Amino acid sequence: MTNRASAVLDVPRAPFYRAVGDEVEVFRAAAVGGLPLLLKGPTGCGKTRFVETMAAELGRELITVAGHEDMTSADLVGRFLLKGGETVWVDGPLTRAVRAGAIFYLDEVVEARQDTTVVIHPLADHRRELPVDRLGVTLPAAPGFQLVISYNPGYQSVLKNLKESTRQRFVAIELGFPPPEIEREVIAHEAGVDAETARALVAVGSAIRNLDNSPLREVSSTRMLILAGGLVAGGLALRTAVQSAVVQALSDDADIVAALGELVDAVL
Ligand code: ADP
Repeated sequence: MTNRASAVLDVPRAPFYRAVGDEVEVFRAAAVGGLPLLLKGPTGCGKTRFVETMAAELGRELITVAGHEDMTSADLVGRFLLKGGETVWVDGPLTRAVRAGAIFYLDEVVEARQDTTVVIHPLADHRRELPVDRLGVTLPAAPGFQLVISYNPGYQSVLKNLKESTRQRFVAIELGFPPPEIEREVIAHEAGVDAETARALVAVGSAIRNLDNSPLREVSSTRMLILAGGLVAGGLALRTAVQSAVVQALSDDADIVAALGELVDAVL
């Protein structure tokens, strides 16, 4: 087990990451055999930061792609492009990662269509290869190649669930919002605010996350609280900072904004 008190990864040039559970150990162990990883957790809870830090610790290049509805397999694998009258093949980000032995991070994988994400299947099992149909070749993944995908299980949509045949291939790590003492530390570090401000921001965040029957699609994320902290560090009053970076960011509905404002006033 990690010694939680010393779980800040201290790697030169790596971004600051404060471990919450045993995610660092699981990632390190998966990296040894190049096992694919699935990071589950709400938006803004630190998934991207975690991958960036692990890539730096492992000394691997990190290639990141955000999943979206219109993404095609060619966007990942590559395509022929016309350049100066010639047709040239241009590797997509997945192919570059396979050749370079990089970590390939597909963020918000469920936003992409399933017929797109199937291209990662042969890379996510013992084959560790990428068929590039348009070139008529199958590329073996270079040593060091590792697939990491993330998704937000909070979006309760049948359409936007991860296909069973995809998820079965991955070692899953659940990353939620950090517990209060860690979130305070993260906010103080990232936003450059004092302990008292960080404490107040975490209190606001927890109150919004714990709302019963919440009409919100997203809750106050660590990222939003850091943004609010950044405004305070920039000279804004705490209440105004929370209103701008958290309350207004969470909803456009006047009634909901007013209700959240009252909740914030009760906490601060
Ligand atoms: P996600 O990829 O889950 O949407 P991010 O990784 O972009 O979220 O996290 C948003 C911000 O929150 C990061 O830029 C970082 O400043 C901060 N953060 C969240 N969790 C942590 C953590 N455990 N350690 C360090 N920073 C964190």
